[in-house]
Amino acid sequence: MNFEKTENIIKTAKKILIISHINPDGDALGSTCGLYQMIYNRFKKRADLCALTYLSPVYKFLPNIEYAKSSYDKSLVYDLVITVDVAALDRLGDMRILFEKAKTTINIDHHKTNNNFGDYNYVMPNASSAGEVLYKLFKNSGWKIDKNTADCLYTAILTDTGGFRFDNTTEDVFLAVADLVEAGANPNEIYTNCYELKSKSYVMFQNYCVNKAQFLDDDKIAYMTIYKRDLERFNANDDYTEGLAETLRAIVTTDISFVAKEVEPDKVCKISMRSKKFDVSKICMAFGGGGHARAAGCTIKSSVDNAVKKILNEINKYVREVREQ
Ligand code: AMP
Ligand code: MN
Ligand code: MN
Repeated sequence: MNFEKTENIIKTAKKILIISHINPDGDALGSTCGLYQMIYNRFKKRADLCALTYLSPVYKFLPNIEYAKSSYDKSLVYDLVITVDVAALDRLGDMRILFEKAKTTINIDHHKTNNNFGDYNYVMPNASSAGEVLYKLFKNSGWKIDKNTADCLYTAILTDTGGFRFDNTTEDVFLAVADLVEAGANPNEIYTNCYELKSKSYVMFQNYCVNKAQFLDDDKIAYMTIYKRDLERFNANDDYTEGLAETLRAIVTTDISFVAKEVEPDKVCKISMRSKKFDVSKICMAFGGGGHARAAGCTIKSSVDNAVKKILNEINKYVREVREQ
């Protein structure tokens, strides 16, 4: 797969928007900033760069992040909108309208639940990250990767593989990052920026949450509920809950872990689910969400307690079905 079909579109487009999903993670931000750099290097064009909603201070070190805005004028009609790491269009929040109005759209992703919603689709479900998809597209197109692009793509791959530990850490990942390091990415500097500049209140908050975790089914199911009042107590940012579902999955007995986080009291709850052996994207799809086999998510319009009941029901149903197969 290379950019052959779309190179001309990028070349001729006057107004370009690069956008990723709400509450952007390291892959979302690394990939959008890396693509921004590449489009600048190759076509001498400055795209608009959208980082929806809360921007974690963790990723302030990324090249080009200073150009990112959380919102753009909804009346704009772009020649080209490129989505990166976006599993489904509702993950674009209220900027979705810009995608719908765009003259041409390109969808670059690695979620297996992605339904190819773009005019042009570069979706690789076996890739670790959108960053890896971009790396392959750039290499196969013969586009030279500079240090800034390398730093961005390395960050994307590092964070979506959980620091090269998850089961999406393939030989291709190591080949890609070796090449990115050769192109100038600095592994230790990026690791330090991503994982070793946590605030004291972040660590305290995570400990507090882990302490109130609940376990079911001989500890095979582990979960925690996080309310707005918990976040407020620790003066927590939106990204303070990152990694909690992984912490619960790390327990030897855990098959499925999830975090239920209150977004709007009694109205909206976000679920982050992880697993060791089940395909939890199927469970999240039952609620209109999606993702990957071992890491998926969804948003449920109800109170946290109700959402947890619904999720536990769906987990039971799914696990029973798998065991009967
Ligand atoms: P998270 O738990 O937010 O880290 O998300 C885990 C994985 O599931 C990520 O790859 C997300 O992109 C994906 N995901 C989370 N929420 C949704 C959703 N509502 N729809 C589709 N994919 C999602
Ligand atoms: Mn993501
Ligand atoms: Mn990703």
